[in-house]
Amino acid sequence: MRYPGNRQRQFGPSLRAVASQEELDEYSVCYNFPRGRFYNGENHYEVNHSGYTSFPGTVSYRDFNNKLGGGENQPAWKAIMLYSIDDAKKNGAEWLWGTSAVVLCQNADGDVTGAIGQDADGKYIKVNAAATVCAAGDFSGNGEMVLGLMDEVRELAEASNIELNPDNFRGMGQNGMGHKLMLWAGAVMEPGPRAAMNFGNGAGAPSLAAFGNYPVFGSDGKRFYNDAMLQFGGQGFFARRPAGDHLCTIMDSNWNENMARMGYEHNVSSCTCEREWNLVIQSMEEGVAAYHADPAKAGPEGFDTYSFTGFGLNKGAHLFVADTLEELADYLGYEGDAKQGLLDEIAHYNEMCAAGRDTDFGRDASLMIPIENGPFFGVSTVTNKGRVMSGMVQISGVLVTDHNEVRRKDDSIIKGLYAVGNDCGGRYAIQYHTLMAGNSVGSAITHGYCLGEYLGNL
Ligand SMILES: Cc1cc2nc3c(=O)[nH]c(=O)nc-3n(C[C@H](O)[C@H](O)[C@H](O)COP(=O)(O)OP(=O)(O)OC[C@H]3O[C@@H](n4cnc5c(N)ncnc54)[C@H](O)[C@@H]3O)c2cc1C
Repeated sequence: MRYPGNRQRQFGPSLRAVASQEELDEYSVCYNFPRGRFYNGENHYEVNHSGYTSFPGTVSYRDFNNKLGGGENQPAWKAIMLYSIDDAKKNGAEWLWGTSAVVLCQNADGDVTGAIGQDADGKYIKVNAAATVCAAGDFSGNGEMVLGLMDEVRELAEASNIELNPDNFRGMGQNGMGHKLMLWAGAVMEPGPRAAMNFGNGAGAPSLAAFGNYPVFGSDGKRFYNDAMLQFGGQGFFARRPAGDHLCTIMDSNWNENMARMGYEHNVSSCTCEREWNLVIQSMEEGVAAYHADPAKAGPEGFDTYSFTGFGLNKGAHLFVADTLEELADYLGYEGDAKQGLLDEIAHYNEMCAAGRDTDFGRDASLMIPIENGPFFGVSTVTNKGRVMSGMVQISGVLVTDHNEVRRKDDSIIKGLYAVGNDCGGRYAIQYHTLMAGNSVGSAITHGYCLGEYLGNL
């Protein structure tokens, strides 16, 4: 996008301020407090588990009523974001769709004076600019860059005896061009540890809440980490996983209690939403009814249920239900010593719950909820421990100042060059920790907004 070079503009209105109220009312989903009918007096705007604090506060846009024609519950972000694009156009911006920046232009002092881009037909276009903002996303789509720059991923692969073949380390994000453009112009990557938004060693533990914090058991039936931690903070790297591919989570009929107490983190987007609670409860009840109607068939088959963090789009979780833990262990695929290990571990876990203290891993006392009353539910997954996923995106970037100015190794500023979103560094220390759901998209949008305001007022 380019603005006329001499334009001075006050940036003020936020995305929601330029969108139509009618559409905001139709599509906005404010995932926050309280947790519907499961409000139990223990929900706070701030939940701290094992020293890690998380907050509710996410807004998303969903087309619950299929107004946009793409199907019920589908994302409606595009409808809202178009308002921002139109507002920029009204204020003089020109969008060069399909044009990729291939090099930044610099003067004799190294200041960035614009960029050269290439369109889909291979045609080059040069844009002169007083300010060039790199907002080209991450580099997870580039396996070489992942292995070269992403020490968290590379070191985990090395520790897991995984061949460092770049083809196997491509994630779901961008190709790293933004980082390259800036590094060629003299920028410097933030030093390590460089954080990744990924799951190492297979995947996170399965659960009703995408990655909820019920007790987690490994292939030998034993717990192996502080499972109070939710998704990325606690489960990003499962190097401590025991050998074997099996992971499972087990809950009892009191499953909702844990859900109502757990931290917000990434899962807040659903576990604070009454509508999704209702969908999950209904499908859990249907699963139990089917099991009790025909245990011999429905027990081993399990059932599909809506899960939290699925936006009620589909029945995304496959659960097993049984009236005894022995039976459930069979359905989950545990045999022999592993099955006995699992049953012993649950008994031990229940003893620690009764004592109110997890002396093994320090799971918070408020989450020491026993697994004792049937029907019991289990979610299991078979994930290859010897696989390191490069991830959704990589979240480290170049060093910038407080105003997102890109700097060189000697601390001098590359005048005219700015970085936001996944192109700029200094946002995550280790791993992708989601103290608030949507904090990656949220911080990218906020950086863009704040930098726009800063540049507009220079
Ligand atoms: C599957 C998946 C799930 C995710 N889930 C979540 C979530 O639940 N919550 C959350 O907060 N985050 C989530 N993320 C991460 C989040 O989407 C990104 O971190 C965020 O979009 C980064 O924003 P950005 O503006 O830096 O880059 P992007 O959103 O990646 O945008 C970069 C843009 O730059 C363009 N571009 C790239 N190269 C060039 C070039 N050379 N010239 C011009 N344009 C270029 C790209 O086409 C793209 O439009 C998820 C990511 C993935 C892949």
